[in-house]
Amino acid sequence: MTRIIVCASGKGGVGKTTLVSNLGIALAELGIDVVAIDANLTTPNLGFHLGVPLYPTTLHDVLKGRARMQDAMYRHDSGLKIIPAGIGVDDIKGINARDLSNSIAELVGNTDIVLVDAAAGLGREALAALESADELIVVTNPELPAVTDALKAIKLAQEVGTRIRGVVVNRIEKKIHEMTNTEISNMLGASVIAEIPEDLSVRQAIAKRTPILYHKPHSKASKEIRRLAASLVGMQYKEKSRFSIFSFFRRR
Ligand code: ADP
Ligand code: MG
Repeated sequence: MTRIIVCASGKGGVGKTTLVSNLGIALAELGIDVVAIDANLTTPNLGFHLGVPLYPTTLHDVLKGRARMQDAMYRHDSGLKIIPAGIGVDDIKGINARDLSNSIAELVGNTDIVLVDAAAGLGREALAALESADELIVVTNPELPAVTDALKAIKLAQEVGTRIRGVVVNRIEKKIHEMTNTEISNMLGASVIAEIPEDLSVRQAIAKRTPILYHKPHSKASKEIRRLAASLVGMQYKEKSRFSIFSFFRRR
């Protein structure tokens, strides 16, 4: 059965696209058939995170009735499949976010997991993504404005019948002014399923258009995303060894 999981937040810039791109790769590496969809219809950037910003056929062509989802699907080296959105201003014209659910429904039965990268805010675009999914992973930063918006996303998801899978707290610095996981979890009424630290290498990875999983595979951020991927599909997380035999000999 195909699971449709949306990553949404309310507040923008909290780390949804970073999570979707890397979680998608981590799941693909576990042998799961995953399609990541850029449902950020007005300001898409999943393609940038995965190293390819421009694609000939996109989700926008599907929403305009000019293509099928399969025509707009591309394969990343990791095995992750991606349905990017068009990045041109003209792409936005004449589309209706409400058509997203029907397009996503085309994938049901053909893949294990559909990961939906939702738009910022809780307007029509983000709501369409919430409505199209079975499960919500809510992404937040450990600060009150982000958590307040995450709460709204959760309430909207509940209204449209989308199950709350859990909360990913991103950009944790363990500073005294930050909200703790317990405070976040209590406020949202949902458990924290992953905690990702503030890490400069995440930004460096995006600048290099390389997923953090490849750029810094042994960083806490990468390990936490891999652990989350395994737990989402009920697999045991096995940390990869930092040193191969080859690197051991080379270091001597
Ligand atoms: P969203 O999709 O929610 O708008 P993004 O994934 O695009 O958010 O991330 C927004 C910015 O935050 C990116 O420029 C990225 O470099 C930065 N960022 C995300 N996660 C982290 C992190 N764990 N540590 C440092 N910077 C991060
Ligand atoms: Mg984004």
